[in-house]
Amino acid sequence: MPRLRLIVVLLALVPPAWSQNPGGFTPGAAGLGDPLYPLAGNGGYDVEHYALTLDYQPATNHLVGTAEIRARATQGLSRFDLDLRGFALTRLLVDGRAASFTRSGQELVVTPRKGIPAGKAFTVIIDYAGTPEVVTDPDASIEGWIPTRDGAFVVGEPQGSPAWYPVNDNPRDKASYDFRVTVPAGLTVMANGVLVSSATSGGRTTWVWHAAEPMAPYLSTVTLGVFDLSVTTLAGGTPSYVAVDPQLGSTAVLAKLPDILAFYSSIYGPYPFAAAGAIVDDARFVGYALETQTKPVFDRMPDEATLAHELSHQWFGDSVTLIQWPDLWLHEGFATWSEWIWSEHNGGQSAQGFFDQLYSRSGSVDAFWNPPPGNPGSPALLFSASVYLRGGMTLQALRQRVGDPTFFRILSDWAAENRHGNVDTPRFIALAERDAGLSLAHFFDVWLYQLGKPVGW
Ligand SMILES: [Zn+2]
Repeated sequence: MPRLRLIVVLLALVPPAWSQNPGGFTPGAAGLGDPLYPLAGNGGYDVEHYALTLDYQPATNHLVGTAEIRARATQGLSRFDLDLRGFALTRLLVDGRAASFTRSGQELVVTPRKGIPAGKAFTVIIDYAGTPEVVTDPDASIEGWIPTRDGAFVVGEPQGSPAWYPVNDNPRDKASYDFRVTVPAGLTVMANGVLVSSATSGGRTTWVWHAAEPMAPYLSTVTLGVFDLSVTTLAGGTPSYVAVDPQLGSTAVLAKLPDILAFYSSIYGPYPFAAAGAIVDDARFVGYALETQTKPVFDRMPDEATLAHELSHQWFGDSVTLIQWPDLWLHEGFATWSEWIWSEHNGGQSAQGFFDQLYSRSGSVDAFWNPPPGNPGSPALLFSASVYLRGGMTLQALRQRVGDPTFFRILSDWAAENRHGNVDTPRFIALAERDAGLSLAHFFDVWLYQLGKPVGW
């Protein structure tokens, strides 16, 4: 039997292909290849639900968390990544069994004991603790978990969510969320969705919120502090939660919230979520507001245009969300134009008036028109004024081109056909062309992609 023995020895020395890749399991990608944030999110699975149990001590800025993540494999997974910045991990289970992990920058690399077959649902439980991070973006703005005088301002666009929980941090992986956050009694925690309960015991209050509709991770929040919280019901039955830092002055502008939402519902279609409201903090050093889902968060008392802007994002940005960050004009151009149409609706300056003013006053100053809104080009330029203003002007120019009935049909079709979904610019152009019955390739090329002042569209 010597020849057979030789074959056995060779088999033992040369591992066959199936032992390197048993059952077809391969590592999930460390990122999803976004042109501006290539490591944001991870490949190989889709998250369906996050259940976050957090305990926060503002006095020491210490956060203790348990994240339970329900996901489904989209490939046979030998290992997979989550995004998480900082923290010490004390337990990591995959389907109830301890899994090994390593850390590398924002990548948390998890290797379960056994491969996860494609299509299979699995659950990850992670216990973690530490100081949550303030993330500084390429444009120098701050996000993540930002401590305030009385709590924390929690915002995640575009990359702040891994500062406070392990997450597949990519806008294309939407999921439902449950939040259970414990803080010192006297503080209010404002998270996304509907308030389930708040209960105090032993000087600590636990706030429980449920966000049923799919949400991109960057839109999650648990902003907390001393707030006056008022809960009302909008026409149609949607609960509205408005939280205001009592240090701030007049809250009169917030009384417009129901009217603004009703107006946008009348032109964009039904409000997309089971809850509404606003979180108005006293944190001016943050320098911006964000359209956190169901309840935008403001760093100060907003003016009416800013309030309208963030509320319109509930349709354009939150329900209808970009796939890749360079398409941000699909959020910010739409929200800017929404400010203008709210003004027009109330007898103020018309959207065309805003357009004319910007078009004539800005001359051919490159700094106003560049970068073109369809292609900001770099993370530092993502939130450029041109993405907002020239993006909004793109919609007003489209309105001029196709006329009001077709234009408003385009907007409501866009919101309806992509409700709770993900989109890109070619998809918007295709829908506009379909509804208008026109070729608009040249129009959108001039407005979205050409450098300098648009002419001859
Ligand atoms: Zn915006």
